[in-house]
Amino acid sequence: MLKMSGLGIASIGMVSCAGSLPPIKAGDFRRVRRLEPVDAGWERIIRTTVGLRPYRPSGFLLRPERMEEKLLIHNYGHGGSGMSLSWGTGYIAAEMAAERPERQVAVIGCGVVGLTSALQLQRRGFEVTIYAKDIPPNTTSNMSLASWTPTSGLVNRDLRTVVWDEQFRRAARISWHQLQLFVGRGYGISWIEGYSLQDSPPENELGGENRLLPEDLRVGSSIYGPGQHPFPTRYAVERPSMRIEPSIYLDRLVDDVRKANGQIVIRRFESRRSLAALPEPVIVNCAGLGAKALVGDEELTPLKGQLTLLMPQEEVDYSTFGAASQTAGGFVHMLPRRDGIALGGTSVEGDWSLDPDPDAVRRIVEAHIDLFSRMD
Ligand SMILES: Cc1cc2nc3c(=O)[nH]c(=O)nc-3n(C[C@H](O)[C@H](O)[C@H](O)COP(=O)(O)OP(=O)(O)OC[C@H]3O[C@@H](n4cnc5c(N)ncnc54)[C@H](O)[C@@H]3O)c2cc1C
Repeated sequence: MLKMSGLGIASIGMVSCAGSLPPIKAGDFRRVRRLEPVDAGWERIIRTTVGLRPYRPSGFLLRPERMEEKLLIHNYGHGGSGMSLSWGTGYIAAEMAAERPERQVAVIGCGVVGLTSALQLQRRGFEVTIYAKDIPPNTTSNMSLASWTPTSGLVNRDLRTVVWDEQFRRAARISWHQLQLFVGRGYGISWIEGYSLQDSPPENELGGENRLLPEDLRVGSSIYGPGQHPFPTRYAVERPSMRIEPSIYLDRLVDDVRKANGQIVIRRFESRRSLAALPEPVIVNCAGLGAKALVGDEELTPLKGQLTLLMPQEEVDYSTFGAASQTAGGFVHMLPRRDGIALGGTSVEGDWSLDPDPDAVRRIVEAHIDLFSRMD
């Protein structure tokens, strides 16, 4: 078991995120298991992708609205957390839809939020038609990393409300349970060890927005001190996390919607009026960043993110957050997937460009070349 003394970390052990650290016991010393380094190099790059996270400073919008005779339910604005939260917000959207007696529903959007909303509606007996201008593999959801990050780029803490917090916690709990049930069932979801790399002693408290998470959704961590891990930083904090491989996951969700007799129609909508002309009495708006123009939500703004993919390496079975502090020049992270080793670490608010930023590519790739060349 890991320990932290008043002077810093003396050894390693399990730490409950929310509670205090266990006392130090003799004979608890151990080292991180053998980890294969990433073969990081410029010649290993296979592509760089860009996605615009749909960010609303006051958090996702999950709310019904009357539109003439129809019920319009908004479910968009999940920022950097949509892959994590969508089953939960989809569940709540389906509850709102069930208030109406009719069972025909239109879902606008075929990213992760639209697909999971469609499935939650189908589970309640709705006939679903998804309308979307783009479908996988051409959605923002396909460009995500993606891990269980339910509070990432999600909300400005000063703009939260009690009602929103309640919706968030409920959505996070529903998603947390649902995603776990897909592990090992061909959805591209798996548990993976993640190592946060840092030179300063880890704090015993959850930082930032992670405090939003209910305690039962927090997994404990193991802290490894100097000499106990292979990374060129003083500390490595290991915490298991769920990995979601977007191309596998989204294709499975599309299959599931179709197997439950859902229709997918390629169509672009320009305005609320074009939505009102749909035959379905209930409409669930899962247009992501597209909702800005579609329903005039001026709060929505992009958080541009890009990933550089290296050749896949099956033997790399852990992820990293951060790098050696001397060279990182900003936050970076690595997640191995079947379609490549994904390197990321960008979030640029208000940038609508879908072009990769070469400076960001250089920063992120160089930080990882340095990190993995110095691994034991
Ligand atoms: C680099 C990067 C890393 C990320 N990492 C993570 C992560 O680790 N964990 C996590 O949880 N999340 C992560 N995210 C965030 C996640 O990808 C988003 O929150 C999520 O994809 C949003 O899903 P969505 O369905 O709302 O949007 P989208 O995937 O953009 O889908 C929107 C849908 O609406 C359709 N649409 C839009 N406008 C219209 C219109 N006018 N008419 C018709 N159809 C329309 C689109 O065609 C599309 O089908 C990451 C994102 C990026 C870019």
